[in-house]
Amino acid sequence: MTLTPQRIARPASVTDAFLQRLVARVPSTGGGSWKLTEVYTGEVLVELPQSTPADIERAFAAARAAQQEWAAWPLAKRLKVFKKAHTLFVDNAAKTADLIQVESGKNRRMAIEETCDPPMVMSHYLKRAPKLLAPVKRGGPVPFLTTSTEIRQPKGVVGIIAPWNFPFATGISDAISALMAGNAIVLKPDNKTALSPLWGISMLEEAGLPKGLFQVVCGEGPDVGPTLIDNANYVMFTGSTNTGRVIGERAGRNLIGCCLELGGKNPMIVLEDADLDEAVQGAVFGVFGNTGQICMHIERIYLPESRYDDFKTRFVAAAERLRVGASYDFGPEMGSLVSPDHKERVQAHVDDAIAKGATVVTGGKARPDLGPAFFEPTILEGVTKDMLCGVTETFGPVVALHRYRTVDEAVALANDTDYGLNASVWGGDVEAAGAVARRIESGNVNVNDILATAFASKGTPSGGVKQSGVGARHGDYGLLKYTDVQNLAVLKKQVMGARPGQDYDAYVKSMLSGLKMMRKTRMR
Ligand code: NAD
Repeated sequence: MTLTPQRIARPASVTDAFLQRLVARVPSTGGGSWKLTEVYTGEVLVELPQSTPADIERAFAAARAAQQEWAAWPLAKRLKVFKKAHTLFVDNAAKTADLIQVESGKNRRMAIEETCDPPMVMSHYLKRAPKLLAPVKRGGPVPFLTTSTEIRQPKGVVGIIAPWNFPFATGISDAISALMAGNAIVLKPDNKTALSPLWGISMLEEAGLPKGLFQVVCGEGPDVGPTLIDNANYVMFTGSTNTGRVIGERAGRNLIGCCLELGGKNPMIVLEDADLDEAVQGAVFGVFGNTGQICMHIERIYLPESRYDDFKTRFVAAAERLRVGASYDFGPEMGSLVSPDHKERVQAHVDDAIAKGATVVTGGKARPDLGPAFFEPTILEGVTKDMLCGVTETFGPVVALHRYRTVDEAVALANDTDYGLNASVWGGDVEAAGAVARRIESGNVNVNDILATAFASKGTPSGGVKQSGVGARHGDYGLLKYTDVQNLAVLKKQVMGARPGQDYDAYVKSMLSGLKMMRKTRMR
């Protein structure tokens, strides 16, 4: 690992006045605040106001009032806002990346890539929303005399609860399709990373989003969550599996829908005929990208006996070459973990594995010399299911290497987990690799890539199976989940049921022959 000299002058765009303007929109009548820090230095950036239950209820009332007007806008007028926003988001990518970096500690490349997600989502739904939201006429039960039309109505106010690992993408991207469909939003970002979503909302408002439509409330999850869920018409949650269970339970009690995008323990399978140069390069990103804090990142790598040593040698060398450090330029290839607390969790997983017999091939330690939350790129061998990192998500730059003898064994090992968010299969014969991919119990599987191909395919729903989630983002589902279907049925002339005085036997006979005729006409 190469040490990067510390160059951590805060980005010029992140001024105190700018930060104060951003946090001013968070309601807080209780006067409480939370010290939001710059991850690289641990210095306080701004006091983030904390919202009380009464503040949250008022935010919902304001959002609900704004939603009534917004939903009445013609769709084309609503979409115009996002056309303008797309330009603003792209033009301000560097400033957005500054904020993402100060609050999350990720490296510059990952911060810039994160800024691209909302514009990609906007582009996709700008094209697709008119088709998805248009009324669809269906045939009624009696040909010519009846019609049934599927009308898409907005749910109302959508509550979004977002994590810290991709605060801008999860805070803003998941709101875009909901807004296009005519909903209002109340967002609860993680306290650590509230700045970039607040900035995203101000860009949306500059593009013409009506004030009041997109509210933000802040606080610790268990303090804000109940009031938020109790007032929402739908909840979009991204975070850990444990919290997802709490959110899902409460949404269920309230009989509202929810989408839960949760954790993973994602496997990578390298097949015999894989291009090892590409697989190693993929693994470096898959394991260490975003400092291992991507929900779809790789924590388990399965290698055939014949290629194990070769892969291991190259992968370890690549991990040890990585430039790790704190900087707001493109120098470091890996940045910090999000907080000292999270660093302790990652260290605990590694220490537990070592105590139970795993071997550290490289890394394994925190790097206080680089900053308060840095951790080395870490590769382990001998990880088993009695170890914390053998079964639960570590969410750090830590991976375990495993050998397999047959493809069946590799598939069984990959599926031997409660999670099912993402998987990656590498092979020279793409058809054969695809056949292996289909056998993996996972909402996303990438062939010859780690995650970007699946996540950037905005036309396809992306979600987790098993304990990794309920529902999905992206694709038609990613917009339609924010709508209720109204079945608008019209009967042009009353013909159903026996007429007064009609012989009931004769009526039943004609109805039954009508049913036969209907089947025949529908079959044609
Ligand atoms: P977390 O579950 O601790 O927190 C996520 C959000 O929920 C935060 O805003 C937090 O304040 C809030 N929260 C916590 N407890 C709550 C409660 N009782 N009620 C309401 N809200 C509550 O997760 P995290 O540690 O912030 O994020 C990392 C996790 O997110 C990882 O497990 C990662 O895999 C997952 N993740 C999943 C996806 C996906 O698309 N599947 C994407 C990003 C992150």
